[in-house]
Amino acid sequence: MRQSTLFTKTRKEAPKDEVVRNAILLIRAGYIYKEMAGVYTYLPLGLRVLRNIERIIREEMNVAGAQELLLTSLQSPSVWEKTDRWSDAVIDNWFKTTLADGTEIGIASTHEEPLTNLLTHYAHSHRDFPLYIYQIQTKFRNELRAKSGIMRGREFVMKDLYSFCRTEDEHAAFYARMKEAYTNVFRRSGIGEQTYFTYASGGSFSHASDEFQTVTDAGEDTIYVDPDTRFSVNEEMLGDEKILEKFHVTKDRLIPKKSVEVGNIFPLGTKFSEAFGLTYRDEAGEEKPVIMGSYGIGLGRLMGTITEVCSDDQGLVWPKEIAPFRAHLVRLGDQLDVAKCADQLYSELTQGGIEVLYDDRASVSAGEKLADADLLGMPTRIVVSEKTLRAGVGEFRDRKSGEVLMVPYAEIAKRLAA
Ligand code: ATP
Ligand code: MG
Repeated sequence: MRQSTLFTKTRKEAPKDEVVRNAILLIRAGYIYKEMAGVYTYLPLGLRVLRNIERIIREEMNVAGAQELLLTSLQSPSVWEKTDRWSDAVIDNWFKTTLADGTEIGIASTHEEPLTNLLTHYAHSHRDFPLYIYQIQTKFRNELRAKSGIMRGREFVMKDLYSFCRTEDEHAAFYARMKEAYTNVFRRSGIGEQTYFTYASGGSFSHASDEFQTVTDAGEDTIYVDPDTRFSVNEEMLGDEKILEKFHVTKDRLIPKKSVEVGNIFPLGTKFSEAFGLTYRDEAGEEKPVIMGSYGIGLGRLMGTITEVCSDDQGLVWPKEIAPFRAHLVRLGDQLDVAKCADQLYSELTQGGIEVLYDDRASVSAGEKLADADLLGMPTRIVVSEKTLRAGVGEFRDRKSGEVLMVPYAEIAKRLAA
């Protein structure tokens, strides 16, 4: 991508009402645009990041044996009345609308009910299970406070997976597999070290759930962490003597940290399957309720969290698998020979399948180009200038470590591909 034709430009300032780093940096760098509180448009650079996150999640879910579908965002009240969750008193952040003929419609905030209902039309026998079904889809929630940038949207993309098993053992095995899949997702997203598997209370569904919490000052939650063993509980579980005993930790060892829930996994038991009559006949012909679990990750929340963890005073510092481009080729100076050399390097790299953002802008100062490269945050910056041209090298700089290296032209592609 030639930066001279890139749709968005960097900005000196973010909107005054943005208080969190992820929104400020992503708006300034031209990755997202704020429509209104909690509602953000993904611009071309931001969409590339979101797609990378989506690709990682999809790969890990498929490896775990799950199948993808796409449920509707418009939902029928009759389905939600089965579990008594249509009421605003039960789900306080429902967006709803009414059709011209008076029919009420729900705008999706989650999908336990519609998916369980759907399955009753297709799965009845023990041979039809287990099923692991997910989607990557937009959710709408009328969040009271939407002050955390893309970490808490009123409209946001979520990966939600639901498991349907025949026995507790089958459920437990898949639950463990999902825990591993989530660990992989957050490691590949560059926040593995800061992300803790956290024992949590399960809200309305179950007595206990597990959250993946990433330590950052921008977080709205607090977790209690044992730094040696990486054991972690949330606020509600801190008073649970049983769980502390089970993991041989004492309260005084646990250190409070501000954190954000990047993902969670819930055992749902038979709450939903019983409400919808989702049962199966076992080998002996006996009818049994299906055991369910749910597993969510907010893609925007993950992107915002990566931004919070992977950034510095100069701007974004994207992990390799997340970055919109592998490298940022920056041409300093408009001299003919420099431009020719940079152009040639750009086409060589792109032809070699390496995704490069090429700052080919004319009449932009070196200082401005380098500041923009820092703000945009590609993992490697390659400078081509009169000086490097004479030496027959490109100046490599690692965005994260700041390490600088002179690489001969012939070796640039090979080094980036490695
Ligand atoms: P929170 O307590 O932070 O509101 P939640 O318990 O409502 O989260 P779930 O309903 O379980 O979250 O949703 C699954 C995942 O979706 C969460 O782990 C989080 O990553 C993401 N998520 C939830 N709400 C939002 C939101 N408003 N914006 C972006 N992502 C969200
Ligand atoms: Mg919530």
